[in-house]
Amino acid sequence: MDTAILDALAAAVGPGHVLTEPDARAGFERDWSGRWHGDALAVVRPADTGQVSAVVSVCADAGVAIVPQGGNTGLVGGGVPRQTAPARPIVLSTSRLDALGPVEAATAQLPAGAGVTLAAAQRAARDAGLDLALDLGARDSATLGGLAACDAGGLRAMRHGTARRQIAGLEAVLADGSVIASRMSGMVKDTAGYDLGALLVGSEGTLGIICAVRWSLVARRDARAVALVAVDAIEDAVALAQRLRPALASLEVCELMDAAGMAMTAGHLGVADPSGGAPWTVLLQCAAAEDPLDELAAALERAGVGERARVAADATGRERLMAVRERHADAIAAIHGASVKFDVGVPLASLAGFVTRVGEVARSASPGAELVVFGHLADGNVHVNVLPAQPVASGGPEEAALDEAVLGLVAECGGTVSAEHGIGVQKPAYLRLSRSPAEIAAMWAVKRALDPAGLLNPGVGLPAG
Ligand SMILES: Cc1cc2nc3c(=O)[nH]c(=O)nc-3n(C[C@H](O)[C@H](O)[C@H](O)COP(=O)(O)OP(=O)(O)OC[C@H]3O[C@@H](n4cnc5c(N)ncnc54)[C@H](O)[C@@H]3O)c2cc1C
Repeated sequence: MDTAILDALAAAVGPGHVLTEPDARAGFERDWSGRWHGDALAVVRPADTGQVSAVVSVCADAGVAIVPQGGNTGLVGGGVPRQTAPARPIVLSTSRLDALGPVEAATAQLPAGAGVTLAAAQRAARDAGLDLALDLGARDSATLGGLAACDAGGLRAMRHGTARRQIAGLEAVLADGSVIASRMSGMVKDTAGYDLGALLVGSEGTLGIICAVRWSLVARRDARAVALVAVDAIEDAVALAQRLRPALASLEVCELMDAAGMAMTAGHLGVADPSGGAPWTVLLQCAAAEDPLDELAAALERAGVGERARVAADATGRERLMAVRERHADAIAAIHGASVKFDVGVPLASLAGFVTRVGEVARSASPGAELVVFGHLADGNVHVNVLPAQPVASGGPEEAALDEAVLGLVAECGGTVSAEHGIGVQKPAYLRLSRSPAEIAAMWAVKRALDPAGLLNPGVGLPAG
């Protein structure tokens, strides 16, 4: 039977784009963090929407599940095959859906294939005198389709919102192979019927395969100012964010890092720790048409932290300070290997309480574990990285105890179990902590209506229904 399916897939995309050899599949079968992996029947690489539709139709006829994959930088295991799937799924790689632009100046939108990387899209926007507001450390690999599928947030969400706010239109293939082009005309105003594209944003590949997007761009603001502020307590970091946000119109990045993460990342990069070992560090970036340095320095003085701020003198200094934040995930992976990562959000007013308690709570489930906490301070979005004393098996009892402990604390603080990475295969059982039974039932109703056979990314996003 496999041979017949593989032949049909090869007819759809060309034999060179159906990868069946273990070596060729390996990089697509393991996630960035190294925590999730499984076997795929094949990795299939369609070149356009028509080929995606043909691939989905072949799989629908044969009852083969499909795992969509973009840059494979997701951190909740949703883009790789599962060991537990009853039969091997295919991985549908969007790498060849790479048509890009041109930028439309009149609408300030960028039409692009789902497989275009964020960095390539940002370059195209800047070359046209505009900017793509979404930004994150994985920009060289993460794709527009993946960012849309996860409703990614990133470094500048505090000013520009998450992917959802930036996607003007979207083309996708549904589970029966049909194609929807939702608001791909470029018109800003279009209230005809349900916004199906918006439904697919954040659906993690469970409702359709995103093939192309129209990304809304923003004005290019090249003048930047960057500062690191060392503080003694998490309460001081939160207070600083609360004070600066309304006072600094040009503020677009407001990040948090703990002492362990700063030391680890500085060591990984081979530079001196710019925080000087402070318990907490806040990274700030302002962007404007004119140099915002004076505005930033004045705001820091007014906030009473001028003396503890380290302001970058030039572009190289700005890049160095930003790199220390952006390379946290790389440093943890390089130094510690696989960690148990929690991307969570709590209201800013509860953030200090959450951060103060999370270490003790995590260690109650994983004795001796170390923690690295960093993230998007102004959004109340922190990444809690638990570095266990002994390796924790994916899906094992210690991991479950950790999930229960950390995510339970998030719920107690009135937060969300997923702020920007999605639910993936890590958190379906904990969706109940952030969504009501009625909401989960409605999600399942949508899923069953659009994918009755459950072929699109089974096991991702929703608890067993
Ligand atoms: C170093 C590092 C830093 C990061 N920083 C951030 C950050 O600041 N903010 C943030 O939000 N995330 C961050 N991430 C997580 C990750 O980059 C984002 O989740 C990103 O959106 C994933 O894009 P991708 O193309 O790699 O998707 P993949 O990892 O390939 O897939 C992610 C999910 O989307 C689905 N999917 C992918 N493409 C499609 C498609 N075309 N159609 C339908 N479904 C699809 C997959 O099935 C999977 O469920 C970071 C990751 C790393 C490694």
